[in-house]
Amino acid sequence: MKSKVWLSSPHMSGKEQKFINEAFDTNWIAPLGPNVTGFEEDISQYLNEDTYVAALSSGTAAIHLGLILLDVSRDDIVLCQSKTFSASANPIVYQGAQPVFVDSEEDTWNLCPIQLEIAIKDCISKGKKPKAIIAVHLYGMPYKVDEIHTIAKNYDIPIIEDSAEAFGSSYKNRKCGTFGDISILSFNGNKIITTSGGGALATNKKAIKDKAVFLATQARDKSVAYLHSHIGYNYRMSNVVAGIGRGQMTVLDEYVKLRRKNYKFYEDALGNLDSVKLLNEPQGHFSNRWLSCILMDTYKSRESLRLEFDKENIETRPLWKPMHQQPIFSNCKKYINGVSDDLFERGLCLPSGSNLNESELNRIYSVLKSFFSLG
Ligand SMILES: *Cc1c(COP(=O)(O)O)cnc(C)c1O
Repeated sequence: MKSKVWLSSPHMSGKEQKFINEAFDTNWIAPLGPNVTGFEEDISQYLNEDTYVAALSSGTAAIHLGLILLDVSRDDIVLCQSKTFSASANPIVYQGAQPVFVDSEEDTWNLCPIQLEIAIKDCISKGKKPKAIIAVHLYGMPYKVDEIHTIAKNYDIPIIEDSAEAFGSSYKNRKCGTFGDISILSFNGNKIITTSGGGALATNKKAIKDKAVFLATQARDKSVAYLHSHIGYNYRMSNVVAGIGRGQMTVLDEYVKLRRKNYKFYEDALGNLDSVKLLNEPQGHFSNRWLSCILMDTYKSRESLRLEFDKENIETRPLWKPMHQQPIFSNCKKYINGVSDDLFERGLCLPSGSNLNESELNRIYSVLKSFFSLG
């Protein structure tokens, strides 16, 4: 059996171990310490100096805290992009609130401004203004930031910007992770940089960061004895894990280049075919190309290509199944235009790791070559 080619696997740079050793040498083996602070500073520098960052145990935890900080509670409505990974939506349910799913548009595959406004108006007309919007830069492609944020502003609804897949992406030269009232990042093992597991909450208000850290560390009031006037969470990032993050931050831009090079590889191979569509960057959108994805002409051809890769032990994956199609969310309200259903039927994510080597790319190319009869 040939070795497995992964969709997106961890890519260590060699610079991580030094920070981890420092944590051991100084006995900072705890969910606080110099690596946590250093990692937060690195992220903040990278995004924008006015950004305050709280390093957390996961991106999911960051979304959960974001909802709490926006005061989302029982029976509130939260509008959420349907085409996303379930972690965007689950924390809404943790709060006892109701997810309402909104479909995508075709240019970025993200939140559709038209459907979003229909959903907001409809909720308001029924006497229930949405408490928050969760917008996602899926696969690293920035959503239509200007359009979406203008609508949110008009109706005075805060946005949680789910930038879990888009660290290193930007919109009109501003980094993804700086647009939301609250923004989140993920450093899970499959993301563009990883801490094995981890996440972060980013905000332009220091008070919000401080409150996030307070809630993430069991909501301990200032007192020698343990004193609590809030329900707390254990969501802080460990100082050992943050050491991996500091090493990874030194190569983030390089990894963006490598992922974009993978996209170019697929574009060069498939760009001229009528039966395949790639996702171009609209004007002003810069994608980290976390995953390179294609649209086939039919479900059947998507499946046969996927199975050809599978035979060669090359991992590919259909574009994420929309939340409104998930059994667990089948009772949730939805505003649908057919775009995300179609993407799910015809779309395929291709191997996209920054660590793909020449021989792996050759194996991928030979599958494409025989499937599409490339010259
Ligand atoms: C990975 C991911 C998350 C969750 O991040 P974790 O760190 O795995 O909890 C949230 N949203 C999207 C879109 C993701 O891809």
